[in-house]
Amino acid sequence: MSQVDINELRKAFPTKQQVMDETPDPGVREMLEHLKSKNIETAFDRFDAQKPHCNFGMNGTCCRICHMGPCRITKKTPRGVCGADAHVVVARNILRWVAAGTASHGSRSREVILALKKAGAGEMNIPIRGIEKVKAVAKSFGIDDGQKHIQQLAEEIADTLLSDLSRTIPSKHLTIQAMAPSERIGVWTELDILPIGSYHEVFESLHRTSTGTDGDWENLMHQMLRCGLAFAWTSVVGATTAADCLYGLPQRSTISTNFGSLEENYVNIAIHGHSPVFPAAIVKAATDPELIAQAKAAGAEGIRLYGICCSGLSALYRFGNVHPLSNALGAELVMGTGALDAWVVDVQDVYPSLTQVAECFHTKIITTNDSCRLPGAIHMAFNHEHSNMNQAETLAQEIVGIAVRNYPLRKKENIFIPQTKIDAEIGFSVENIGETFGSLDILVDHIKEGRIKGIVNLVGCNNPKLVYEKAITQVADILLANDIIVLTNGCASFPLLKLDYCNQNAYEKIGPNLRTLVSSKAIPPVWHMGECLDNARASALFRALADKAGQPIKKMPFAFSSPEWSNEKGVCAALSFRLMGINSYHCIHAPITGSEKVQQFFTEDTLATLGAVMVTITDPTKLGEKIIADIQKAREELGWE
Ligand code: SF4
Repeated sequence: MSQVDINELRKAFPTKQQVMDETPDPGVREMLEHLKSKNIETAFDRFDAQKPHCNFGMNGTCCRICHMGPCRITKKTPRGVCGADAHVVVARNILRWVAAGTASHGSRSREVILALKKAGAGEMNIPIRGIEKVKAVAKSFGIDDGQKHIQQLAEEIADTLLSDLSRTIPSKHLTIQAMAPSERIGVWTELDILPIGSYHEVFESLHRTSTGTDGDWENLMHQMLRCGLAFAWTSVVGATTAADCLYGLPQRSTISTNFGSLEENYVNIAIHGHSPVFPAAIVKAATDPELIAQAKAAGAEGIRLYGICCSGLSALYRFGNVHPLSNALGAELVMGTGALDAWVVDVQDVYPSLTQVAECFHTKIITTNDSCRLPGAIHMAFNHEHSNMNQAETLAQEIVGIAVRNYPLRKKENIFIPQTKIDAEIGFSVENIGETFGSLDILVDHIKEGRIKGIVNLVGCNNPKLVYEKAITQVADILLANDIIVLTNGCASFPLLKLDYCNQNAYEKIGPNLRTLVSSKAIPPVWHMGECLDNARASALFRALADKAGQPIKKMPFAFSSPEWSNEKGVCAALSFRLMGINSYHCIHAPITGSEKVQQFFTEDTLATLGAVMVTITDPTKLGEKIIADIQKAREELGWE
C-alpha cells in the first residue's frame, strides 16, 4: 500500500486566487471579486491563513484524549505517553469522528421523528401528508393490523424509530430487521456489527476511545462499523422515513437556481441548515396572506425563500418555491449580496463566520434550534426539551414578520447580485423514477443492456483543499460522458444544480446511449434527490434495482462518490455505503494515513468482509476514470456487456 505524502498534498491545496480563477460557477467568481473589493473575509481567506496545515491533524496521529498529552506520533516518538501507537491513535480518532457524525445526523433525525410522533398524537398542528408512506412503513414494521388510523400508525412508527435511536437493553434493531436486505443482515450478523441503538453505539464509541480503554486498533474498527450501521439506519434512514411520513414523498418540479434567482424587489429569506421541521413552518408562514400584505405595504412585491445547504433543499422538494442558492461553504457569498432580509438557520454547517458577514449588511440572522446559537443572532427556537414544537407556526410567523420589517432597512448601495440563473429539475425519488421508466424492472433492463452503464451517487460537502465546486463537476463530466447516471444531493449538488447538469442542457455532456434514453423520457441525466439525508433515497434505489436484477448490491455497477467531502458526517456517509457493499470514491484523504494498518483496513481489508473499499485519488478526472473502470469490471463480472 502506497504511503501518502502529506507535504505533496499540502502543496496542491489551492490558493484563494486559484479558486477565484478556476471555480466553475461565474456567479461565484463574481461574488468573490466583489467581496474582495469590499474587504469582506470568506472561508477561502481563512483557509489560506491556516496554511501550512498540521501534518499530525491531516494524518490522524495527534492524540488529545488525555492531558498527559497531547501526544504526536512520529518515527522518533512512535508511542504516546500511555503507550498508544499510531494505529491505536488513528483508529480512536476516526472512531470518534464516526460517533460525532452519527450524533449529528441522529439529532436531526430525532427532531423529525419527534415531530411525527407529536403530529400523530395530535400535539402538533401539522397534517400527516405521507399517508401512503405511513401505510408502507407500518406494514414493513408489522404494526398495521388494518384497524388503526393514520395518526396512530404515525405515532407507532415514530416510537419504533425512537426505540432504535435510544435502546439501552440489547435487542434487535427494528429498522434494520424490517428494511435492510437479508444478504446484508447476514454479512453484518457474521461480522457481529449489528448495532443495539444509536445512542448506545455513540456512547460506547466514546467509552472505548477514552483513556486506557480499547488499545486494539482492530477492535476499534469493529466498533466503527457498528456505529456506521447505527448512522445509516437510524440517523439517515430513520430521518428520511419520518420526514416522508410527515411531509409526503418528494415531488418533481423545476426551480430557478443561483444568485440571479434573488429578486431585489422581494422580502428575501434564506433557509439554512439541516432539519426539515422549522423550515416547513417558515414555508407556510411565507404564504400567509397577511404577511404578504405587510410585505407589499413595505414596498416589496412579495416574499421569496432561498435554500442554503440542506434544509432549503428538503423544503424545496416537498413544498416548492425555495430557490437553491448555495452550499454551506458558499453561504458567505450569498450573504454578501446584501439582498437577504432574514437568514433563518437551524443546525449543522452553519459556520460561525455568518454573523461577521451579516454585520456588514442589514441581514438579520435568526437561530431556531437550541443546539445552534450564534452570538448576535436573534434566537427564536425549539427549546432543549422540544416542548414548544407545537409553537413552530407562531414562531415562524414572527420570523417572517422580522424579515418583512427589515426589508425597508436594506441599503441599495450594498446590493450586488450576479445575474447567473439556471433552471434545474429536482425531486427524484425511488417511487417517481419507477413511474418515469414504467417500472424499476425496465430501468434494470436499461442497465443490463448498457444504455445506462452504471449509477453513481455523487454527493458530499465542499472542501477548500480543492478548487471550490470544481472536482464535483469534473467527476460528473466524465461519468456522464460514459453513460453513467448521476444521483446527487446536499452540498455537492449545488454546482450540478447551478451549472446546467440538472436540466436538458446536460444532454450535451452525456454519452450517446444515455442521451437517447433520457431524452426519450425528457429527464436530465443527473437526478437530484434532495438533502444529504437523502442518501437514504439513493441507497433505497440501489437496493431496489439490485433486488429486481436478482443480485446482491455489491455486484451491481454502482458507486458512491464524495470528491470534496469535509466533515464527520461525510466519513459516516461513505462508510454507510461501503457497509452496503458499494465502494466509496474521494479526492481528499481521510485522516487515517498515519497508520498503515488503519488505512489498509479502509482501502483493502473490507473488500473481503463488506465487498467494498474506500478509494482516494486526488485528481478528480483520474478518480472518475477509476469509478468507470470499476463499474466496467462489475458489468463484465455480471456478464452485462
Ligand atoms: Fe497521549 Fe495516550 Fe493521552 Fe493520547 S491518551 S494524549 S496518546 S497519553
